Amino acid sequence: MTSSMALLDQLACSHTLSLQEYAQLVQEDDPEFLDALQRRAEAVRNKMYGNQVFIRGLVEVGNACRRNCLYCGIRRENRAVERYVLSLGDVMACCREGYDLGFRTFVLQGGEGMFSSRQVVEMVQSIRRHYPDCAITLSLGEYDREDFCRMREAGADRYLLRHETANEALYRRLHPAAMSFRHRMDNLRWLRELGFQVGCGFMVGAPFQQPEHLAEDLKFVEIFRPHMCGVGPFLPQKDTPLGTHPPGSAAMTCRMYALMRLMIPGLLIPATTALGSLVPGGRETGIRWGANVVMPNLSPLHQRKKYALYDHKLATGTESAQNLQDLRASMAAIGYEVTVARGDSLVEG
Ligand code: SAH
Repeated sequence: MTSSMALLDQLACSHTLSLQEYAQLVQEDDPEFLDALQRRAEAVRNKMYGNQVFIRGLVEVGNACRRNCLYCGIRRENRAVERYVLSLGDVMACCREGYDLGFRTFVLQGGEGMFSSRQVVEMVQSIRRHYPDCAITLSLGEYDREDFCRMREAGADRYLLRHETANEALYRRLHPAAMSFRHRMDNLRWLRELGFQVGCGFMVGAPFQQPEHLAEDLKFVEIFRPHMCGVGPFLPQKDTPLGTHPPGSAAMTCRMYALMRLMIPGLLIPATTALGSLVPGGRETGIRWGANVVMPNLSPLHQRKKYALYDHKLATGTESAQNLQDLRASMAAIGYEVTVARGDSLVEG
């Protein structure tokens, strides 16, 4: 068996490992290995992106959802959430506030099926017209290819659609039978063909997840080669069928950032809200393990707590876009600088 240290060299040089080798690195618990992994990932991150941290203004456009994902707090059958959908005017007001704060990327995220593709196109056109210098990212779930095509033509630049897990059997345990793993994977391929900068992603420590499943996620990311990859710990939400399962681990989430950084040096990797919600200073730790993006919340304050994907989700403090000064300070304290650049991916293609 190749030593884990040697596998790190191999990953950093050839950017590929076998499934078994990824599984070995997922499970290696030698502190020296973990220390080397962190240092190498941070060095690659800094070589690619300097000490810059990109920010995205996250607008949670609504929590209505037609899906019923077993882990998600805004699933259709959760009667305990009060639903909201922002109007075009609300979204534009969030963007105005974000623009004035310095944001040059807006991420419109929400439950699935709230908006027809025509409504999404209208939003994108409006943001494009008012803020031609900003990147527009959508994260609104699955659509048909033609819908994505219209959104792209309207001026959307990026699309985030986590694959959630690359293992089809695990996908089926986490989602109702009506949801198709294939369709989600097809969606990712269409987005790429249509010229979006594409983000996939997965949860760490999802119920029933084994180390081998994380190895499959890494292999999928290696082969799909997205521009971005969002990874956060699973966090239970009490009104969901999986709400009694334990949370995923912050350390394992950071390990995923580092392995992905060595695998695809130019990848955009957010230090996610879920990581920040799980442990104090989680996002800063994520940056030190290879992440290079944070996505502070720009949603209207009175709606924010309704977008509860999981319990104890951060919505204030440095998680809040209005609090950019504190975020700048907390990043400066670890040697990083928040930048207002659009922050396009260095992954080509
Ligand atoms: N509806 C959109 C975006 C929704 S939520 C879509 O389908 O892409 C964004 C992400 O939050 C999801 O992709 C999922 O990975 C994550 N999420 C949902 N519930 C979660 C939970 N309980 N713990 C951690 N992350 C969760």
